[in-house]
Amino acid sequence: MCGIIGAVAQRNVVPILIEGLSRLEYRGYDSAGVAVLNGGIKRVRAVGRVAGMQAKATEEGLHGLVGIGHTRWATHGGVTEYNAHPHISHGEIAVVHNGIIENHDEHRAHLQSLGYIFESQTDTEVIAHLIHHHYAQCGDLFAATQRAVAELVGAFAIGAMALKSPDIITCARVGCPLLIGLGEGENFIASDVSAVLSSTRRVIYLEEGDVAELGRDHVTIVDRSGTRVARPVHVSDVSLASMELGPYSHFMQKEIHEQPRALTDTIEPVISEGFNPLLFGTEAEAIFKDINGILILAAGTSYYAGLTAKYWIEAIAKLPVSVEIASEYRYR
Ligand code: GLU
Repeated sequence: MCGIIGAVAQRNVVPILIEGLSRLEYRGYDSAGVAVLNGGIKRVRAVGRVAGMQAKATEEGLHGLVGIGHTRWATHGGVTEYNAHPHISHGEIAVVHNGIIENHDEHRAHLQSLGYIFESQTDTEVIAHLIHHHYAQCGDLFAATQRAVAELVGAFAIGAMALKSPDIITCARVGCPLLIGLGEGENFIASDVSAVLSSTRRVIYLEEGDVAELGRDHVTIVDRSGTRVARPVHVSDVSLASMELGPYSHFMQKEIHEQPRALTDTIEPVISEGFNPLLFGTEAEAIFKDINGILILAAGTSYYAGLTAKYWIEAIAKLPVSVEIASEYRYR
């Protein structure tokens, strides 16, 4: 699961982007990159840890007031520097992307017929060229992002910026999480709140199909029909300390040790006055009566947990359970 960060500010955003990516490291990734607007789109990418990419960015003196960053978990194309994000179209549009574009092949063929040359094996590069194609026609990054998003099929979150629109970034959310962080004279996008906590606690969680434009002093959001919408602003109470690695060697070890607390925090409010079937939702009682089998979709560690749950649920509830790897399920 990759991570997205972006910032439009009155200060150098490179430290914000790098810190944000470090906060997203717990999600797992294979490569990382950042790009900023500074008389051109300046980009640094590297396979491996954020710290390695950060060293390159420092060496190259990367800085700028507007930028986007990414930690990649490769789905299309190998783990290489040229497949790492951000992807750039014609030196004018840069894009970071979380997720998968299902119809990338047909877009690639069409964009190639229009003269676009692909430099990576990723599905993401299609998005950069598609936004570039629309931007060339309308000269408006927000409109170009909306048009591109309407043509993409898949589950994705994206962040984009344009050399000729140097005071904004755009973003969209379809099937993958993305939020907007609201600062004072600066705004941010991120995959989760941990990435923006050092700058702000005020966040807007984008809803399915939302596309947004962020400037230093404005945020404009449209829903999937293109209608302007106002989304609620939340004040996050997540503590930065809880995001730190603390005494643990890595985040998986930390998560394992946090499980008792996480389970208690989740379940206790619902069962503190005896077992409450509402634990499973308001319609659970009615639905449970009609269940004759259970399918658990999971990945990685949760897949193994699902295999254990299968034995327990079958033994206790006497219902057949199957466990499938989530990412493969839709293709089966
Ligand atoms: N599908 C994109 C790629 O392979 C993004 C993967 C991700 O979510 O990091 O580059």
